[in-house]
Amino acid sequence: MPGLKIGVVPVTPFQQNCTLISDADSGQTAVVDPGGDAERIMAALTAGGLDAVAIWLTHGHLDHAGGVADLVSLLNARPDHARVEVIGPDARDAFLLGDIENQAAAYGLKGLRNAVADRFLNEGETVAVGPHVFDVLHCPGHTPGHIVFVNAAARFAQVGDVLFRGSVGRTDFPYGDHQALIESIRTKLLPLGDDMRFICGHGPNSTIGAERSGNPFIQQTYR
Ligand SMILES: [Zn+2]
Repeated sequence: MPGLKIGVVPVTPFQQNCTLISDADSGQTAVVDPGGDAERIMAALTAGGLDAVAIWLTHGHLDHAGGVADLVSLLNARPDHARVEVIGPDARDAFLLGDIENQAAAYGLKGLRNAVADRFLNEGETVAVGPHVFDVLHCPGHTPGHIVFVNAAARFAQVGDVLFRGSVGRTDFPYGDHQALIESIRTKLLPLGDDMRFICGHGPNSTIGAERSGNPFIQQTYR
């Protein structure tokens, strides 16, 4: 992945893969899904000599966005830095961003806060870290406004809770839609190509090819 540096900081008791996507030349970094543990994320940024310039969100669940408010406060307290923007997810997840403290209470978790996006994203838009451009794809099913970030040139994607190694995102929420999720995977992710590597919201990395051939949730129907 020339020029692109990727790091993962597991956050919250859900061990969510908060992902640091950096331009290796400038150190400019997008923090994807800071679900909590903002000080641990700050420590990882400092240890890596990374300069966080934006927060990107795949979806509005507590373990992906519950640390946004704290991280924004910490990042914007840095002297001589432009204000960091919170970008994404799709506006259809706005109701979840505003419900994080309720979600956290239901799980008995403390320290997670409601999040506010500066800008929602639509499919077809792009976001960038330095010269590295990521396409935004809308992949509903796990949540209505879930998006994924794809860098076609580097053959790298961050797919949040849509697709996992050997599994797919849960859809047993009132707003979940398993059929829509499988359709998102079939029509948006599988066409990215077998060599596309991805980091997901939880657990180990994988590739589209490995999931196309080995993931029981997609293999059954769409071999
Ligand atoms: Zn989720």
